[in-house]
Amino acid sequence: MRARFVAGNWKMNGSLRVNTGLLAALKAGLKKSENLEYAVCVPFPYLAQVSAALTGSAVAWGAQSLSEHDAGAYTGEVSGAMLREFGCRFAIVGHSERRALYGEDDARVAAKFIAARRAGLTPIVCVGETLEQRERGETESVVGRQLDAVAGAAGTAALAGAVVAYEPVWAIGTGRNATPQQAQEVHAFARARLAARDKALAGLTILYGGSVKPGNAKDLFAMPDIDGGLIGGASLVAEDFIAICAAARR
Ligand code: PEP
Repeated sequence: MRARFVAGNWKMNGSLRVNTGLLAALKAGLKKSENLEYAVCVPFPYLAQVSAALTGSAVAWGAQSLSEHDAGAYTGEVSGAMLREFGCRFAIVGHSERRALYGEDDARVAAKFIAARRAGLTPIVCVGETLEQRERGETESVVGRQLDAVAGAAGTAALAGAVVAYEPVWAIGTGRNATPQQAQEVHAFARARLAARDKALAGLTILYGGSVKPGNAKDLFAMPDIDGGLIGGASLVAEDFIAICAAARR
């Protein structure tokens, strides 16, 4: 059985005060569960707070990006080794906001993926099409290209054990989620694309992200190729995130 996983992406939200309550609620509400893992991916400055709050709990943590470089004259950047020092297990790479707002192209996403692996982090690599691309019938070519860029640069061995998140850009933060069937189609395509490279990749954990809420999580997670979710807005509300995690339990 494939591992199930729910990760929160706090984006650029939080404060020391607000995080304290949220983290305490997650620690109390999320218990170790067979074959289901949870994590929160938080802004860099809060990693020390998160590490202190969540150490010993069932909830892992990670970052929302990292540098493709290991050290040196890269002002403003944060390396994978630094993230490991703060107990991160995960790093998101290729989130559509990074691609669209910070010009991260496929090559840079692949370089960040490789850097995460070099540092011993599990990358959560995001792929997904814009609304215009979907309407032009390009969903599979876009998602296939984004997956191939990482697989080609990193190699299939590095992909094994990583996490893929299918996040249609038109569903992120819009309140408009993909229907379970729409999401399933792309997940099945992504799984087949990876498996064509290496049969072992058929077992990869593939998350759906884009306006997942307690009310739609169960139907999305019931789809055969959806192994959990990458959750933005709803991960900031403890009750909602906990309910979404419960929906991922088999
Ligand atoms: C995200 O930021 O990855 C995301 C899926 O956001 P939201 O759940 O708010 O759509």
